[in-house]
Amino acid sequence: MPELAALIRDVADFPQPGVTFRDVTPLLADARGFARCIDALAEPWLELDVQAVCGIEARGFIFGAALAQKLGAGFVPLRKPGKLPPPVLSIDYQLEYGRDQLEVRSDALRPGERVLLVDDVLATGGTLAAAWALVQRFDAVPVGACVVVELTALQGRLRWQAREPLHSLLRY
Ligand code: 5GP
Repeated sequence: MPELAALIRDVADFPQPGVTFRDVTPLLADARGFARCIDALAEPWLELDVQAVCGIEARGFIFGAALAQKLGAGFVPLRKPGKLPPPVLSIDYQLEYGRDQLEVRSDALRPGERVLLVDDVLATGGTLAAAWALVQRFDAVPVGACVVVELTALQGRLRWQAREPLHSLLRY
């Protein structure tokens, strides 16, 4: 997908020296590119009866909400701690440096609901693995996960323990 890759901006030394940040905001700003991106993200799941798309804060909300519309599914935000009113379920997870948490409304999903996870970037894979573990507490039915960008050198895919597919559109 070279036309989509051309809309991702590489930012050297952000947010810290030595890190190259993949900025997806030029892709979002391009009407055609954004539409193509959502079409491509949706394609593997069109026939899988996804009922809820869970998007990870913050850029996962943007792709996830559009994807939910495309798939005829609802949208559930998985948020950083302290943003959602109680009651919430939360999960603590390891980052490359330090720890973080994700939270979800405690009645956001029903047992048996067919769930797809979405984020913008897969880096070390910790965020997506934590999101998956959180969703499983509802006894929901995992369908899979998708990201726009996969940073393959960080081997985040190895943290993806689920049997269900993890799709990425662009790999670096
Ligand atoms: P991981 O937990 O896989 O190490 O990190 C993934 C999370 O960090 C995602 O929620 C993603 O939004 C953010 N992230 C990590 N690296 C980048 C990057 O280069 N670009 C963007 N846009 N997000 C990143």
